[in-house]
Amino acid sequence: MYNKAIRVLNIFKKYGYQAYIVGGYPRDKILGIKTNDIDICTDAKPREIMEIFDTDGVSDVGYGSVRVIYKGVIFDVTTFRRDIKYENNRKPIKIKYVTDLKKDLLRRDFTINTLCIDSDGNYIDLLDARKDIDNKIITTVGNPRYRLKEDSLRILRAIRFAACLDFNIDDKTKSYIKKYGYLLKYLSNSRKKEELDKIFAARNKEKGRDLIIELELDKYLGLDNLREIELCDDIIGIWSQLHISVDYLFSKVEKDNINKIRLMLNEDIDAYSIYKNGLYVSSVVGNIKKISYQKINKIYTSLPIKTRKDIMVNGIEIANILNKEPGNYLKEITNDIEKKIVYGTLKNDKEVLKNYIISNYGG
Ligand code: ATP
Ligand code: MG
Repeated sequence: MYNKAIRVLNIFKKYGYQAYIVGGYPRDKILGIKTNDIDICTDAKPREIMEIFDTDGVSDVGYGSVRVIYKGVIFDVTTFRRDIKYENNRKPIKIKYVTDLKKDLLRRDFTINTLCIDSDGNYIDLLDARKDIDNKIITTVGNPRYRLKEDSLRILRAIRFAACLDFNIDDKTKSYIKKYGYLLKYLSNSRKKEELDKIFAARNKEKGRDLIIELELDKYLGLDNLREIELCDDIIGIWSQLHISVDYLFSKVEKDNINKIRLMLNEDIDAYSIYKNGLYVSSVVGNIKKISYQKINKIYTSLPIKTRKDIMVNGIEIANILNKEPGNYLKEITNDIEKKIVYGTLKNDKEVLKNYIISNYGG
């Protein structure tokens, strides 16, 4: 990937343009973190980028960004620009293309995200990114007072980088995060959730949580009991424990799992609850309650049945055994034998079940 990116930079050079790898990739390379996302910046305009890479396919032109696919790898290529005007403390509504790399770097969020790599693989460091990366410091490019206010997403990005990279946010940036935290109210819920998911999955999620609380952002994020929850390994496990007062979007599967986890958190964990909730939900609940995955997995794998279908007699057979028409009563019997089989007090064997049904429900 890296070699292909360097080749892309050299193609730009051949056409007389400047181009650099910028942002997350150089930052993470210094830190020894593997990344699959490579952002490139260039003085070529979107139309020119599209012309140069036409044969390999180009799509999605946005705010000076072009998605270039080079030998099967996707690169987000962004034309050097200056953001002129912001709307609603978020998107720049007016941008101006520029030809100077430094001007482009000055519009970026944090100094750690301004390190570049040139077409020879050399680092280019115009804004002291390296110093802040080495000192593990997150600080805005320019005065945080203006940089956070013009785009409130940066508030959450700062916390995300602190949690994911285990960095500290510099004091001045921190004080303005606190001051402008209320602007998060205007940030779309999907952007908020995207960053929160990354914070909850981060290497140092405790740091992320502590910063959100310290900087009093929990109320603007609608996370009322954030300080009380157990930070487990699973994002959905974290969301399940939160009392959320903002309308965050979850998929149907996620919603189902959240509901199951919430219910199971109030139950005792035993063979039957693990059987009912399945391995995933049970292991998340186990994680929250500090029961090891090994223990949950052992109980799950030793279950005599995994689903109701595994019971050796079905509803129709039970009705036949009892010489009755099928009806609602079957539910009670099935529940009873299912529970006893799961707890190991009744053998899942046709004859054994038949005898049990006759002696307990026959006549
Ligand atoms: P990662 O890809 O690991 O999430 P990243 O730093 O590459 O981190 P991207 O969202 O890919 O983040 O953005 C690429 C670069 O664009 C950033 O490094 C930063 O320089 C700039 N950038 C992204 N979002 C903003 C923003 N809201 N304000 C200013 N600059 C930004
Ligand atoms: Mg990136």
